[in-house]
Amino acid sequence: MNLSQLARSICESPTLKLNETAALLKEKGEPVIHLGGGEPKSKTPIDAIVSCTAMLQTGDVKYTPADGIPALKKAIIRYTEEHYGRLAAPDNVIASSGAKQSIMVLLHAILDPKQEVIFPAPYWVSYPEMVKLAGGVPVPVAARDGGFEPAVDEIAEAVGPYTKAIILNSPNNPSGVVYSEEFVAGVVELCEKRSLYLVMDDTYNRLIFDGRTPTNCYRYAGVHNIDASKLVVINCVSKMYAMTGFRIGWAIGNRQLIRAMTNIQSQETSGPAAPSQWAAVGALNGVQSSIDTLRMTLENNRNVMMTHLSTLPGVRVARPGGTFYCFPDFSAYEKDSAKLSRFLLDKVRVVTVPGREFGMEGHLRISFCGTLKEIMEGCERIKWALDPSAPNEMFLGDRKLVRDWR
Ligand code: PMP
Repeated sequence: MNLSQLARSICESPTLKLNETAALLKEKGEPVIHLGGGEPKSKTPIDAIVSCTAMLQTGDVKYTPADGIPALKKAIIRYTEEHYGRLAAPDNVIASSGAKQSIMVLLHAILDPKQEVIFPAPYWVSYPEMVKLAGGVPVPVAARDGGFEPAVDEIAEAVGPYTKAIILNSPNNPSGVVYSEEFVAGVVELCEKRSLYLVMDDTYNRLIFDGRTPTNCYRYAGVHNIDASKLVVINCVSKMYAMTGFRIGWAIGNRQLIRAMTNIQSQETSGPAAPSQWAAVGALNGVQSSIDTLRMTLENNRNVMMTHLSTLPGVRVARPGGTFYCFPDFSAYEKDSAKLSRFLLDKVRVVTVPGREFGMEGHLRISFCGTLKEIMEGCERIKWALDPSAPNEMFLGDRKLVRDWR
C-alpha cells in the first residue's frame, strides 16, 4: 500500500478498538460488561453547560487564538496557582484539544529525529506511538522488582546521549499507582541535573484516594522561575470533570517552549473548539463539588473492586491510590494477556484491556469507572470463567452458560 513508513509504524489505539468491538456486540443484544473503559460515567458539571450554551446562544462561534481564549488561560492560571502554588503568566499556558494534543505538540516541539523519551512501565498506551509520531524513540523502563514504580536509579540508567525528556504519569494509567513523593522528587532532580524536559502528566491528579494530597512536582524543583525550567505540567478537564468529549487539555511550561507548541498547534488544528473552551472555563471557575463526588464514588468503586478481585485465587493486585483503573496480575491463569482478554470477552462478555498494550504482560487493565453493578457482575463473571472451583453453570441474563473449557 502507498502509505508512509510513519503511518505503517503506528498502531491503532487498542482501547478505542475494544470500545468498537464492545459496541458491536452490544448492538447485537449481547450482555457485555465494559470494564475496559477510560471515562467516568458522571455528567458534565452544570457550570460548564451554562457557560458553553451561553456562548453558543450568541451565535458568534469563531476561530480563537491558537493557544486558547484569554478567559480559559485565566482560569488555568488560577487553577495552577491554587493547586500547584505557582503563578504562571499567559505566555506559559497553551490550551489544546485534550491533554493528548498538548502532549503531542509538546513532543513535536522538543524532539529531533531519534531522540529518546523515557517513561516508566506500565505506561499509558499512547506514549510510545506519540513519541514515534514525533520522530522520536520511546524508552520504557520497567522496575526490576516487577513493581509499578521503578527506582530513580533505574530511570537514571536509561538516560543516554539521545535522551530528551522523561514523562511521569501519576496517578498512573493503567496501574492506578500514585508514585511516591521520593520518586517524583528524584526524577525532578535528575531532569534538572541532566537538563532534560520533565513532562508531568497530571491527567488524574485530582482523582486520588485515601485522603492523600495530589503530588505537586513544583515543590521539588530547584529552578523556581517557570521560564528557566524544563518542567512541563499537563492537565485536562477530561477526567476530573468527566468532560472527555469536550476535548480540552493544557500545558504549563516555559514561554519559549509554549510559543513553539503554539506555532505547531496553529498549523495543525488552530485553537481548540470555541464552545469547548467556554465549557472548560465554566468547569474551572464553577462549583467544584463534582470532583469530590466523583472521587468519592471512584474510591468506593475501588474498594468494591478490590474486595471482589481478592476472592480470585492466585491473582495479585496492587491497590490503586487514584484513577479508575487497576492492573491485576493474572499470569497464574494465563501469561498471554491478549489471549486472556479475548477469552474473557468471548466466554463471559467482559471487556478488559491486555496488559501487553501498557508494556506489562500477564496483567489486565480493569476499570472501575462504571456502576457498582457492572463492577460486581464483571468480577463474578471473570471469577466464574477462571476459577476451577466455581460452579459449572452460570446465567448471562436468561442465557445459561455451561463451562466447557476446564
Ligand atoms: N494522559 C493519560 C495518562 C490518559 O489516560 C489520557 C486519556 N486516556 C490522556 C492523557 C488524554 O486525555 P485527553 O482525553 O484530555 O486527551
